Amino acid sequence: MAVDRKHFVTVCIPLFNEEESLGELYGLLTAMLEGSAAGHELIFIDDGSTDGSLSALIGLRKEDRRVKIISFNRNYGKSAALSEGFRVARGDFVVTIDADLQDNPNEIPGLIEKLDEGYDLVSGWKMNRKDPITKTWPSKFFNLVTSLVSGIRLHDFNCGLKVYRKEVVKRMSIYGELHRFIPVLAGWEGFRVAEKGVTHSERRFGRSKYGVNRFLNGFFDLITVMFITRRATSPFHFFGRIGTIFFLAGGLINLYFLVLWIAGKGLHVRPIMVVGLFMIVIAIQIGSFGLLAELFTSRTDKTFTYREYSIDD
Ligand code: UDP
Ligand code: MG
Repeated sequence: MAVDRKHFVTVCIPLFNEEESLGELYGLLTAMLEGSAAGHELIFIDDGSTDGSLSALIGLRKEDRRVKIISFNRNYGKSAALSEGFRVARGDFVVTIDADLQDNPNEIPGLIEKLDEGYDLVSGWKMNRKDPITKTWPSKFFNLVTSLVSGIRLHDFNCGLKVYRKEVVKRMSIYGELHRFIPVLAGWEGFRVAEKGVTHSERRFGRSKYGVNRFLNGFFDLITVMFITRRATSPFHFFGRIGTIFFLAGGLINLYFLVLWIAGKGLHVRPIMVVGLFMIVIAIQIGSFGLLAELFTSRTDKTFTYREYSIDD
């Protein structure tokens, strides 16, 4: 299978200490893209590698000017690497693929074909993931929760292999560890997101850069994602609701004691009174925190994503 000739394709490859894989990956990608796409470029983003990755890349660049290299001074993480790749990408279609040969470059034409059916982002789905069970099980759970919370129904959010229309990558702003949520961010922006099964291989060289602790951070990131897109919820609505619950509970408790006092019953300080007062204080704290957060994030609402149909003429 080959990529349709009408499209210029950019491949973004984030890598951190993957020297053994780069030559083979370059060969596979070039063989697949050469003479099929209208043209292509391979953007390797060296995320602060300390092995021979950069010199391997410089070697490839000497032979082939379609190889572009971005080299970070230190390890900034996969999101930062992708984000820089997206910034300089020139292709109509942009592909991301891991550098460790776990993703199969020969899946790219199939993904692009699906994109051409009318999607803006097609994400790979590692149907038969070749990783240790300590990774595959937490990952299943993570994907399920992300799917339920986000409403974007995918099985595999964090597959390295994805294809995008240019508009999507130019729009995406990913940092920290947010690359795991690209389909969520894109979906909430109104882009059409789909998924397609892809094959997956075991890691042959080097080590995985991520341990199990990524999943804990993953859930914090999910909350961040909910707020930065403001699609799921706005901070003031979220914290406002929690604050209101505390305020009502605290208010009711103290109202009870107010009624007792008005009725002329003697009042003694009781633990529940203190709890009621605390709840009111906490309610005001949480509510005003939400308001502050709202003021900080409200800017993001003022830009839009849209498709142009008939503006030119
Ligand atoms: N990677 C990166 N920067 C990092 C960690 C990873 O560019 O800080 C790259 C890595 O070299 C690989 C891809 O991101 O090309 C996926 O990483 P890895 O294979 O370690 O993740 P796993 O497959 O174990 O989920
Ligand atoms: Mg890998």
